[in-house]
Amino acid sequence: MSELYDLEAARSPEQRAYMAGLEARGVCIFCPEHVAAEQRLPIEHTGEHWYVKRNDYPYPGTVEHYLIVPLRHVVTFDELPDAAGAELWAIRRALKAELSPLATATVERSGDMRLNGGSVAHLHTHFVALAPAPAETVRFRVSARGAPDSTACARPARPGTAR
Ligand SMILES: [Zn+2]
Repeated sequence: MSELYDLEAARSPEQRAYMAGLEARGVCIFCPEHVAAEQRLPIEHTGEHWYVKRNDYPYPGTVEHYLIVPLRHVVTFDELPDAAGAELWAIRRALKAELSPLATATVERSGDMRLNGGSVAHLHTHFVALAPAPAETVRFRVSARGAPDSTACARPARPGTAR
């Protein structure tokens, strides 16, 4: 079983192959010592518990997409002290002040990435800025994949087609 990456969560064949290579080398791209070599965009801020960077793969529909990542390799939020929570809040406040977005959303998956929809085991908080007329709805998957049938049911039926 993969321990650092959920290859099933890859969004393209290229990303999946890249993740498989990292897994084989035992490299976690979110551990701060690997960011410069393995990620396109640099760390912009380093605090006591977290660093902040733009997501190399911003989700469609976002105006800005930041990742707020613990400096320590942890998998769940409660592995960090309460002081890290206070610092996370301060970082979010600073990003909001800097970006002046109309609205924001924060998503943090914690625990087993095969169940929470994550792709990298290292805890990270997504912070996205949102605008009034996005090209598409911003979507975060935050659970394990449902049975194949559930995907088919979720697809809207086109008028005039048999169900
Ligand atoms: Zn890590």
